Amino acid sequence: MKAALVREIGAGFVTEEVQLAAPIGREVLIDVKASGLCHTDLTASRNNIGYEPPMVLGHEVAGIVAAVGPDATEFVVGDHVVGCLVQSCGHCEACLTGRTFQCEHPEETLRHAGEAPRIRAGDEAITQAFGLGGFAQQALIHENQLVKVSDEIPFPQAALLGCGVVTGAGAVINTANTQAGDAVVIIGAGGVGLNAINGAIVAGASKIIAVDVADDKLEKARRFGATHTVNSTKTDAVAEVMRITGRGADAAFDFVGIPAVTASGLEMVRPGGGLYLIGILDPAATMPLLTIGLIGTQKRIQGVYMGSTTPKHDIPLYADLYLQGRFNLDDLMSREIALDGVEEGYGLLKDPTVTRVVITSGLS
Ligand SMILES: [Zn+2]
Ligand SMILES: [Zn+2]
Repeated sequence: MKAALVREIGAGFVTEEVQLAAPIGREVLIDVKASGLCHTDLTASRNNIGYEPPMVLGHEVAGIVAAVGPDATEFVVGDHVVGCLVQSCGHCEACLTGRTFQCEHPEETLRHAGEAPRIRAGDEAITQAFGLGGFAQQALIHENQLVKVSDEIPFPQAALLGCGVVTGAGAVINTANTQAGDAVVIIGAGGVGLNAINGAIVAGASKIIAVDVADDKLEKARRFGATHTVNSTKTDAVAEVMRITGRGADAAFDFVGIPAVTASGLEMVRPGGGLYLIGILDPAATMPLLTIGLIGTQKRIQGVYMGSTTPKHDIPLYADLYLQGRFNLDDLMSREIALDGVEEGYGLLKDPTVTRVVITSGLS
């Protein structure tokens, strides 16, 4: 089968013939039908984030179960499934208390030392990034990283559920526990921020204020259901949020990750409210904090990983909401490409009007 490989960090994606092992244990083999291009894969292809080339990236993947390992109990051939990069063992303290995204043994979803690699090219072992390796015609994935979804949801939309959707919507619904009537600020109206707007609508937020530097992104935010939009290059965003909310927002979500923007997010929040950090532009970024200011205002700052998502609960929920017309996945889709177009696909994402690019052809 074919896969888009990264042979060297920084050398881009090339399509090559590779071989997948037969499923063992609780592994599930899927025929990939759609695979989304997330920025994290681009980062992993250009910088060393712990995955050794040659590697298969791609972690927004949807497909059909083609075979199951002897110990897999959750899926049968023909199931429509979505992969998720939350790697959970299912039996540690975090998993047992509903925090699979904080699992203490994520490596249990991978093959162990001494076992043959899942992916190889001839005699050469290929790294399967995030336990998924979705930029390929097929993928061999532990059943804990797969979620069954309705056959009615189209594969491209389903693929997006695995990362961008849960990260954005989950931050609002799960991490911040947004309540009906809350006022929320979404800073950065890109592919993930738009899903935070979806989440805020589902949670019943009364005011959904989108802040961005690009008018076309803000227009899209309105289409998703933002009640107010603020272009921070033209308006003082903090003053505008205070004017709209009266006392500050209950929660602000930073999908940008530039220190000055993060600091402004904290100012937008009411006493006792929360700032949630999701985006990160510079991994070395720091932010000075006046401790007494936090004590006096009782504000909280929280980092968010994968929208505090329990994949097997949340992904079918978002899929159902989509099928009911209550969760916009269709307008996230900007372009469909072929498996051998990953490198060019990431080029398309530089256009601010392009939200999500998904591989939908060259897969079989
Ligand atoms: Zn992602
Ligand atoms: Zn665990």
